[in-house]
Amino acid sequence: MSQIYNFSAGPAMLPTQVLKQMQGELLEYGNAKASVMEISHRGADFMAMAQKSEADLRGLMNIPDNYKVLFLQGGASAQFSMVPINLLRGKTTANYAHTGHWSKKAIAEGERYCKVNICTDSSGNKYTNIDDFSKWHIDEKGAYLHYTPNETIAGLEFDYVPEVDMPLVADMSSTILSREIDVSKYGVIYAGAQKNIGIAGLTIVIVREDLIGSVVKNQPILFDYATQANNDSMYNTPSTYPWYVAARVFEWLKAQGGLSAMAKINQNKANTLYEAIDASDFYSNPVAKKYRSWMNVPFLLADENLNGLFLEKATNNGLITLKGHRSVGGMRASIYNAMPQEGVDQLVGFMQDFEKENG
Ligand SMILES: *Cc1c(COP(=O)(O)O)cnc(C)c1O
Repeated sequence: MSQIYNFSAGPAMLPTQVLKQMQGELLEYGNAKASVMEISHRGADFMAMAQKSEADLRGLMNIPDNYKVLFLQGGASAQFSMVPINLLRGKTTANYAHTGHWSKKAIAEGERYCKVNICTDSSGNKYTNIDDFSKWHIDEKGAYLHYTPNETIAGLEFDYVPEVDMPLVADMSSTILSREIDVSKYGVIYAGAQKNIGIAGLTIVIVREDLIGSVVKNQPILFDYATQANNDSMYNTPSTYPWYVAARVFEWLKAQGGLSAMAKINQNKANTLYEAIDASDFYSNPVAKKYRSWMNVPFLLADENLNGLFLEKATNNGLITLKGHRSVGGMRASIYNAMPQEGVDQLVGFMQDFEKENG
């Protein structure tokens, strides 16, 4: 197989090294004499993997001891419900920042449980800009503030962390592990695995301990953070294979030098691509420069009639899944941790050649 670079927004590409490890371990995992998919999650082999994966993630993200790490199912979308169920704690209002497609979905779900105060709204600028924090309207009686640090579809990313006197909740599905963050600023961080952690079927939730245990009555027992925390995410069968893949990705990240090293690589990749877009009249990106995503880079061709040809030629050159989300159009290059700098360099080279031929 010739070298392929996959720019999919999610499920996204995995590090080649991790894929090879998965292949090598597929038939026999460790001393288990069976694959990791075929063994009990309560057996010694799986338990050792689970414990090491949590320790590795804690080390990578520098997670304080007063936070639980949960390995759940249901995707980030299940957290749209679990957050209000667990965090309302008798209150009737919560604050939500509306900065894109995913925060809009979180808001719609939040509204089923409480009065949602939209404290900032980027829909008027088509999710290309974020209000300065001083312009937000926070309801101080709100139980929490929910925001989406990186909006995967529009490629809009916060360059600041909102500071509030209530638990801060972050949907980090498309930005977790891309750089160092200060976990102690957050009440809850959650992320579906299929973008920057591993494969679909696993959701990681990092939750401060004092926010666990006050769930709204008569909700599904699996949706209570306490159920999951008190049972080490094994109240029922966890998503064993996705958990194992995440464990291998954490080891890979450690070998790359951890999150400070990833941040440098990621920033460099993003700069390479945005510089190429800005240097040309043929390509454009509509997002305010300050809030451009390091992870998802949408770009438009000046002549959208060339979109089909661009995608066809890109695919023939081993650059796949560049089609933009239907709500934005054009192209989108998702360049998560697993995308090497060479992939971005190849894309930029291809874009320049395409412009020469068609510009
Ligand atoms: C992909 C994505 C989701 C949806 O995740 P699921 O795991 O499919 O529920 C939610 N939020 C963000 C920011 C995403 O990128």
